[in-house]
Amino acid sequence: MITLLRRATAVCALSAALAACGTDRSPQAVPAPVSAPPSRLPAPAPPTLAPGPAGLTPVFEHGPRTHGRTVALTFDADMTAGQGARAAAGERFDHPRLIATLRALRVPATVFMTGRWAEQYPDQARSIGRDPLFEVANHSYSHYAFTPDCYGLPTVSEERMRSDVERAYAAFRRVGVPEPMPYFRFPGGCYDRRALRALTPTGVTAVQWDVVGGDAFQTDADAVVRQVLDGVRPGSVVVLHCTRSAAPATERAVRAIVPGLRREGFRFVKVSELIGAVGDRP
Ligand SMILES: [Zn+2]
Repeated sequence: MITLLRRATAVCALSAALAACGTDRSPQAVPAPVSAPPSRLPAPAPPTLAPGPAGLTPVFEHGPRTHGRTVALTFDADMTAGQGARAAAGERFDHPRLIATLRALRVPATVFMTGRWAEQYPDQARSIGRDPLFEVANHSYSHYAFTPDCYGLPTVSEERMRSDVERAYAAFRRVGVPEPMPYFRFPGGCYDRRALRALTPTGVTAVQWDVVGGDAFQTDADAVVRQVLDGVRPGSVVVLHCTRSAAPATERAVRAIVPGLRREGFRFVKVSELIGAVGDRP
């Protein structure tokens, strides 16, 4: 089981590969700390949340519910440190068609990228990172779990948690992603107090979600569409994947999700806009 930092709220969704459990904190947006990942270009610091109790890494799950009909689609670019041989053998962990569809539909999105993925697909990582339609956030270097018993993922030791995150940022910079965001998504969504404490020095805001797309290993695009359209509320964060081999129906689903949500009056935003709106919450 996932050990939760705080009492879970009613939102606690599980799928075969993903988990999200709510917390009851009321975070406040603050300027990014000085320890945020350095940017090559002068730009306003991305919004982050104030540290949680005892200075722990803050956790963000969704934006304000009363701040307009906004929704953030997020795409995890998973790749574990040990999957290089499978990529070399032809397995595709990338999904250029999905990225092209998001561009064609003009859908802003946040890509939670592993450092290993950026190294495997440097041209795509750079292209996504330099496109103002997207923002690149951190999904760890190796996609190892930060808690025990997280969907069978190998586990990163407590001593290496911080360096695993920093190694991903280093990989992003090396391939030419100019301004990765100070947001981190735990592999599998699994975290506990120990993990939040270990990442405090990095200055990241942990980003979970409130809508599980259910696209991992799903071949039925309609099932993903229904789950997302049924689940989205104003301020929602939707978790999907941009790894072709592990999320074969996602691109087809997105082509229906986008017009469906737009018909309901939703506007697509990046995670940074939702986090920035937290400070404006009435
Ligand atoms: Zn992942």
